[in-house]
Amino acid sequence: MAETRHAEDGFRGWARTVLAHRFGGVGGQHDAGRARQVYQSSTMAALLDGIYDGDVTIGDLLTHGDFGLGTFNQLDGEMVILDGVCHHLRADGSVEVAATTDMTPFAAVAYFSPDTTVPVTAPATRAEATAILDTNIRSENLIYGIRITGTFSTVRTRTVRKQTVPYPPLTEATAGQAETNFNDVTGTLAGFRMPAYEQGVAVAGYHLHFVDDTRTHGGHALDFRLTAGTMQISTFTDLHLSLPTSAPFLNANLTSTNISERIHQTEGG
Ligand code: ZN
Repeated sequence: MAETRHAEDGFRGWARTVLAHRFGGVGGQHDAGRARQVYQSSTMAALLDGIYDGDVTIGDLLTHGDFGLGTFNQLDGEMVILDGVCHHLRADGSVEVAATTDMTPFAAVAYFSPDTTVPVTAPATRAEATAILDTNIRSENLIYGIRITGTFSTVRTRTVRKQTVPYPPLTEATAGQAETNFNDVTGTLAGFRMPAYEQGVAVAGYHLHFVDDTRTHGGHALDFRLTAGTMQISTFTDLHLSLPTSAPFLNANLTSTNISERIHQTEGG
């Protein structure tokens, strides 16, 4: 069963954190605005459309947050940013720390500062874990950073494969994708819970990437079963959306329908 801190305590913690940031009491290197902000490059709709090359470097990205997820140019694998380190997980299973000059077509980052901590002492499926998280957020209409650390009996992941031009849409690029099951593994799920109204800009609901404690295995989390661990929530009220100005983005038709269906198909969950 999960035990939770009182929601009001969580909110006071969040308010304290924001105030501390405002007065430079915590960190000092970023202001209150950044403490509340998720910075995102491009949109999920653009990624669905095959816009796999961006103009944002990992170095740029890391000036906007120390936590987050995304992918790399040419759709070359999955990104997990934890504690300011950008991990690059490729489809061939290789993992490395991304170079600051590497580029991303889609990523979301923030300064993770948990306002709510939920210990999990009994096994929880993805559906159960996210249901517990849902009872610990203040509103479905804000943005939340989610960090789940612990032991997992299973984590089912996929890692997108590097593409070549002409780029296929994401539904084709992820069709028949290789999935990997990790069993009895300790590690971290990192990502966001986005409001339903952001579907297409981002992935509505929970979007989580996994990396194990050795930082050598992981990917986009399709499903998991948490044995025991800790779930942390960091509340955000601001979204900075940075749009590409490349020709493929400028010329893309991003008004197409079935966004939810295609996101469910490509991202699972
Ligand atoms: Zn993902």
